[in-house]
Amino acid sequence: MNQPIYLIGARGCGKTTTGEALARALAYGFADTDRWLREHTQMTVAEVVEKEGWPGFRARESEALQAVTAPATVVATGGGMVLRDENREFMRAHGVVIYLNVPVEVLAQRLEAFPEAGQRPTLTGKPVTEEIADVLAVRDALYRECAHHVIDAADAPAVIVSRIIDALQVAHA
Ligand code: ADP
Ligand code: MG
Repeated sequence: MNQPIYLIGARGCGKTTTGEALARALAYGFADTDRWLREHTQMTVAEVVEKEGWPGFRARESEALQAVTAPATVVATGGGMVLRDENREFMRAHGVVIYLNVPVEVLAQRLEAFPEAGQRPTLTGKPVTEEIADVLAVRDALYRECAHHVIDAADAPAVIVSRIIDALQVAHA
């Protein structure tokens, strides 16, 4: 198979980190919708949201998804990519979708250790752990609905990469 592989999941679940490692392991290209947006708009996510609002950001995110989609490419997506029906349908239609599932406590630890990694405003203004739990409570169902494979992703990147490769081999043997 050489379809694109889309990584979805909450902010901090490792879509970028694991995606780069997976692309190396498969000798695939790597693309990141958040990075594409930063390069294309010359703004941070926070700046786009401030200037264009969340709807503006979401529209640009759909544009990014379509722009980076290519054969033999691992695509790391933004945490909110699944919010739009059209994005979920697009990913399922064009490739294999993988949900990196990480418990809230682990997400909170990672984001607290690297608070600048996300570079975006909190959605609610609440403390980070509470907000992660609230956001995940809504999005978990969308991640599961969109994913072809749900991967336990609380371990080291190399472990997660082999889990993904196993899932792909079983499904596409
Ligand atoms: P995402 O792209 O899903 O928002 P990142 O790949 O940017 O997530 O990872 C968020 C933070 O968590 C980074 O600081 C990264 O180094 C760390 N991280 C990512 N994956 C893992 C992992 N499997 N184990 C430990 N830390 C991780
Ligand atoms: Mg990322």
